[in-house]
Amino acid sequence: MTQETGSRMDKIVALCRRRAFIFQSSEIYGGINGFWDYGPLGAELKRNLKNAWWKDIVQCPAAGPDGSWLDMVGLDSTIIMNRRVWEASGHATGFNDPMVDDRQTKQRFRADHLFGLYVDALPADPNASPDTSPGTPANAPALNTAFPILTMVASSAGEAAELLEASGRKWLKEAGLPMKLATCTPEAVTLDYRGTPLAAKLAPVPAAQLKSAPGSIPSPFTHRAGTLTEPRQFNLMFKTYVGAVQDEESMAYLRPETAQGIFANFRNIIDTSRVKVPFGIAQIGKAFRNEVTPRNFTFRSREFEQMEIEFFIHPDTAAEWYAWWRDSRFAWWQSIGLTSSNLQMRAHDRDELAHYAKDGAGTSDIEYRFPFTDPGFGELEGVAHRTDFDLRQHAEFSGLGEKLKYFDQLQNQRYFPHVIEPSAGADRGTLALLCEAYHDDPNRPSGVVMKFHPRMAPIKAAIFPLVDKDSMPEIATKLFTDLRRTWNVQLDIKQNIGKRYARMDEVGTPYCFTIDTQTLADQTVTVRHRDTLAQDRIGISQVRSFLSDKIGEI
Ligand code: ATP
Repeated sequence: MTQETGSRMDKIVALCRRRAFIFQSSEIYGGINGFWDYGPLGAELKRNLKNAWWKDIVQCPAAGPDGSWLDMVGLDSTIIMNRRVWEASGHATGFNDPMVDDRQTKQRFRADHLFGLYVDALPADPNASPDTSPGTPANAPALNTAFPILTMVASSAGEAAELLEASGRKWLKEAGLPMKLATCTPEAVTLDYRGTPLAAKLAPVPAAQLKSAPGSIPSPFTHRAGTLTEPRQFNLMFKTYVGAVQDEESMAYLRPETAQGIFANFRNIIDTSRVKVPFGIAQIGKAFRNEVTPRNFTFRSREFEQMEIEFFIHPDTAAEWYAWWRDSRFAWWQSIGLTSSNLQMRAHDRDELAHYAKDGAGTSDIEYRFPFTDPGFGELEGVAHRTDFDLRQHAEFSGLGEKLKYFDQLQNQRYFPHVIEPSAGADRGTLALLCEAYHDDPNRPSGVVMKFHPRMAPIKAAIFPLVDKDSMPEIATKLFTDLRRTWNVQLDIKQNIGKRYARMDEVGTPYCFTIDTQTLADQTVTVRHRDTLAQDRIGISQVRSFLSDKIGEI
């Protein structure tokens, strides 16, 4: 991440605060790490995202690969479920992040977020060795090319490079290393080692190295070796108690994903909803993960919302359905405005695949290049072929066995369907919409415009009487009263018109309608287009159909 993109994120965070998109949770008490509140406009934006998903997935899904409509139903299951669900799913024992502690500073971080600065090769000149050169501090550590000379906690190579660029000089000093930072990008780092250039690179510290020799790896906090523990597993599920007695028996988890509520209801739904394989169950809801290092605004939160689909298919059709869901989910994100090259699809390497996906058709992530991951990408949605892992587990743990199988009447066959799971984050989606929409524009009084896709824009249109007299407020109020039945529109009577336009640019309102003196004469209004700043006139009676054309009726 460059300095420029760093400040771009700062500006987005500031705008979110200033214009009531996102606030820190419990801010008046100093906040709580990893929790965020959506203000009035953020609540609208996130709701638009979730509503569009529900509409396009559950109520009006696209045609599938063979051209017929998808069979989709919705669900709203509970956050707290029987604990056995999480034993069956593997979360109770397996939903862990390996964590490392610094014994000296008491700080804790995720082992897979530790980046190291490795020197590629020592300079050829033996006199340049830190042990023999004149002026070398007596305690200067000998360089060992196998271990990082510095470490930092970052979730991407881009972030690591940015941290190194900002603080590397100070850290080298703290580590007692007689060298300076010369150049620094995620791909290549050069150090100045007493006048000799020394090539170095930033790379994740391998798990095996942290495990076998934690004492040889410098701490990312003190830059001295000897204080890190080896990685230890830390379960990410939040615990609570159900009922009056708080003991081991009454302990329950807050769900870490919505998917298991779907699997637990599979039998109920096939018994009651007339669905036939292939079909899908979709759900939007809160999920909770006690993330070790919540960071990057809402990207990694401890409470967040997921939009998940479990699509049940015959095992023989897995490859086809996997490819179809992967491509249609990618196209969906584009359809709501993530059209730039900041959106990408990435197939997982085999060694990244989750336990359930090893024998499946694969897993792909739909990723967005956020300012804080740049030049890297962060996951928005994962599309995974989960095989029949979950249904088999629930069949075994619930004791239902064969009864959890699907019965295909046409083929007289009983089997566990396979599952394609597109699992998206509503908060990461909202954050991507905010980042994509943000445009600096020095030619506007606001200096910034949020170019939301009209379907996502929190306010669809603003209605302004040019002045607060001559019956203009009354005409504006009448138009507002009509339009608000269909869309979230705003009536703003006060302030000069330039300020009112500026405010609407900052919150990304696609259209403003102004009632002016000409309206009184010919019943037309000025339409101001957010993106082009063009202004033209349409009849006041055409405003409703204009908005229907441009925005649709949701
Ligand atoms: P990551 O690797 O970034 O931790 P994940 O692979 O664990 O994510 P999944 O378990 O696949 O994520 O969850 C599905 C979706 O839920 C993700 O694509 C993401 O959009 C969202 N999500 C997961 N964890 C978080 C979180 N801590 N904060 C916000 N959204 C999250």
